[in-house]
Amino acid sequence: MSSLPNAPTPRPGILDIAAYVPGKEHAPGVAKVYKLSSNETPLGASPRSIEAFRQAAGQLERYPDGQALELRHAIADVYALNPANLMCGNGSDELLGLLAHTYLAPGDEAIITEHGFLVYKIQIMAAGGTPVTVKERDCRVDVDAILAAVTDKTKLVFLANPANPTGTFVPVEDVRRLQTGLPKHVLLVLDAAYAEYVRRNDYEAGIELVSSNQNVVMTRTFSKIYGLAALRIGWIYAPAAIIDALNRSRGPFNLNAPAIAAGAAAVRDTAFTAAAIDFNAEWVGRVTEALTALGLEVTPSVANFVLIHFPEVEGKRAADADAFLTSRGFILRAVRGYGFPNALRLTIGTPEANEGVLAALSEFLRKD
Ligand SMILES: *Cc1c(COP(=O)(O)O)cnc(C)c1O
Repeated sequence: MSSLPNAPTPRPGILDIAAYVPGKEHAPGVAKVYKLSSNETPLGASPRSIEAFRQAAGQLERYPDGQALELRHAIADVYALNPANLMCGNGSDELLGLLAHTYLAPGDEAIITEHGFLVYKIQIMAAGGTPVTVKERDCRVDVDAILAAVTDKTKLVFLANPANPTGTFVPVEDVRRLQTGLPKHVLLVLDAAYAEYVRRNDYEAGIELVSSNQNVVMTRTFSKIYGLAALRIGWIYAPAAIIDALNRSRGPFNLNAPAIAAGAAAVRDTAFTAAAIDFNAEWVGRVTEALTALGLEVTPSVANFVLIHFPEVEGKRAADADAFLTSRGFILRAVRGYGFPNALRLTIGTPEANEGVLAALSEFLRKD
C-alpha cells in the first residue's frame, strides 16, 4: 500500500487542464473604463426582466422550481418548440460540461476546432476525454476536416456557430453535410450562443437539425443578446433521450429562482430583442468599415464582436494596441489562447464606446 499518494489526488488529466482565463476587467489608473472584452451587450437587460428579478427577491427562502417550467415554457412559446425537448442550465457552460460528462468515458475522443471556444477543451478533459483539434481555414470551421478526424473513439463534436472569437459561421448546408457524415452515435453539439444576432439566409441555429435527428443538440445562452450574463442562464434543445440523460446527471436545482423569472421575462420581450439585433447589425457594420479604413484586417463577423488582426510591424502589434487601448480605458480581449497571437477581439459597445475605441485605434496607428 506504500504506493498510495499521501494527499487527495485528482483524476489523471485534471491537472493538465489550463483553467479558463476570462477577459480583463480593469484598466488601472483610468477614470472611465469601457469593457469590450466579454461580448456582453451594451444595452443591458430588458426592463421587464429586471422587474421580474426584483419580484423574485421577495421569496428567496424557497427552492427554485427544479424543472424551470416557467422559463422552458417561455422559450418554447417564443421559439415554437416542445418544452419537453428543452432543459435549462446555469449558463450554457454548465450544459456543455454536462454533455461532456454524460457522453464521454475516459479515453473517448471529442472533436473541437483550431480556434474554438476554450470551454469545450476544459470540459472534455474534465470528463476524462481526449480533445482532438482540427484545423480551420481562414478563420472558418472546416467541416471536411472534422469528418476526416472522426475515429472509432469519437463521441462528441463541439461546433460554435457562429464561432467565438472569429465571428464567422458555418452555412446550414455545411452543417447538414457534417451531420450526415457523422456516425449515428456521434453527438453533434451546435453551440449557438450568438444565433440571435445572425442575419443571413444561409444560417440556421440548429432547430431543424435537432428536430429531425437523434444525434444533434443545440445550446443557447441568455448571456449575450438577452443581457443576463450575471444570472447564468443557458438552454439546450435536444432529442428526448438526450434530455433524459442530462436530467439525470444535472444538479436538481441548477437554475436559481431569480434567473428563471428574469429569463422568462427577457425571452418574452421580443421587441427589446429585435431592437438589440438592429443596434448590433448597424454597429458591426460601422465598426468593421471604420477599422478596415484604418488599414486593419477584420474577420467578417455575424455576431456582436469583431476579430481585429494587427500588422506584423514593430510597435503596431496586438499586444502594443492592447496596452495603448487599456491606457485609454478600452479593454479588448487578447486571443493568444485561441491561436491568434496578433489579434484582439472587440465587442460592440455603446455608440460612445465604439466611437471612442475607433478614435483611439486611429491614434495608435498614427503615432510613432
Ligand atoms: C458566451 C458564450 C457562451 C455562453 O456561455 P454562458 O455560460 O451561457 O454564459 C457559450 N458559447 C460560446 C461560444 C460563447 O462565446
